[in-house]
Amino acid sequence: MLLTNCAACAAPLGLSSGKKCGRCSTRYCGPACQKLHWEGGHDKFCKKLKRGGGAEQCNANYRYEEVAAIAIEKCAEDTKGQTCYICTEGAVRRHTANEGLVRMCACRGTSGFVHLSCLVQQAQIVNDDELSNEDANSKWRRWDVCRLCKTAFHGDVSHALGWACWKTYLCRPETDIVRLDALKILAEGMMQSGDYESALHVFQNLLAINKKSFPHASPPDGLLGVIATCYAHLGQYDKVVDMRRDALEIIVDMRGPEDPLSLESTLDLACALGMCAERTGKPHLFSEARSLARETLPVAERVLGPHNATTLRLTENCAQLVFADKSSSQDDRRAAISSMEGVVRTTRRVYGARTQLRKMPRRPCVNCAGTWGATRPTSPPPSRGALVLSRVSGNSRGG
Ligand SMILES: [Zn+2]
Ligand SMILES: [Zn+2]
Ligand SMILES: [Zn+2]
Ligand SMILES: [Zn+2]
Repeated sequence: MLLTNCAACAAPLGLSSGKKCGRCSTRYCGPACQKLHWEGGHDKFCKKLKRGGGAEQCNANYRYEEVAAIAIEKCAEDTKGQTCYICTEGAVRRHTANEGLVRMCACRGTSGFVHLSCLVQQAQIVNDDELSNEDANSKWRRWDVCRLCKTAFHGDVSHALGWACWKTYLCRPETDIVRLDALKILAEGMMQSGDYESALHVFQNLLAINKKSFPHASPPDGLLGVIATCYAHLGQYDKVVDMRRDALEIIVDMRGPEDPLSLESTLDLACALGMCAERTGKPHLFSEARSLARETLPVAERVLGPHNATTLRLTENCAQLVFADKSSSQDDRRAAISSMEGVVRTTRRVYGARTQLRKMPRRPCVNCAGTWGATRPTSPPPSRGALVLSRVSGNSRGG
């Protein structure tokens, strides 16, 4: 959690409202809360916070240590007796404090064991090195992707790296692109560890900074989608639908209704409507979802082709909506079964016998936090690919 609430009464302060302690920058809703906090003992740690770089910095440092300890603990069994591929030492170190190893990526066998502090140090050094000819994006990926197996870190390692990244860049100006990217890395890490509430808070902050800095620009591509995903995991299905509607409106405005991204976004909204109808008992949303999917399907078939993953997912979605909607007739259900069989046949023929539609290289349906009726197996965790947010102000880090 970032420090965007009053330290005394926890009232949300947004990005800039309220008062700050002149010395350590702890935030309050007003002078009354500041006085209360001071009398309650703030004077005892205010100087210490100032020495540590201010309240936000101290919070980030503290959270990094806390989450890193959890990650190391969880990896203890798997990493026993191994050595770090960066510094070649084990859990017992010669010149620095002892530190257990971690490994939460796709590395197998004896590969990929590492100290979190070594990963952090390497990411900091590589990103600071202006002379290196490694491109900016690949440098930045040190914060969330294992450079040995090229897959994203997951779980608490991803979460700890998020705090490490944030504590490295938080002192930059509020709208600095690197600071905004660090917020994204932090929020993604929070999602990876299952803390959707904190992730939502950080993503909403990002949205607020964007709105404040670029009042006439649309929110960065993908940001509303990840916010929708957080809402879905938190069970706030109405808000998922709101986010999906906003995202669709923006993308259709920018690219027109027949653009592949607009069609994907329509599919996302149809999924969100279906999920919301089922979970919150609002049957009228089923009809909206069904007509949306039915209207979009022929467009997708024409624009993307009948074998495209989005087209197949839309067909699947139409059928699932029929099954989930209790008011569907027997004829509807029979038709839905035959179109599902058609999807399975096409998928096998075009993409290979073992392919599962939901694992195909379209971004997965990020609305679906869990099971969706009996017909819908648990969806995979949100793809990190879906989290790549476009940079509002053009180039980042010169790359
Ligand atoms: Zn307050
Ligand atoms: Zn203070
Ligand atoms: Zn190491
Ligand atoms: Zn790896």
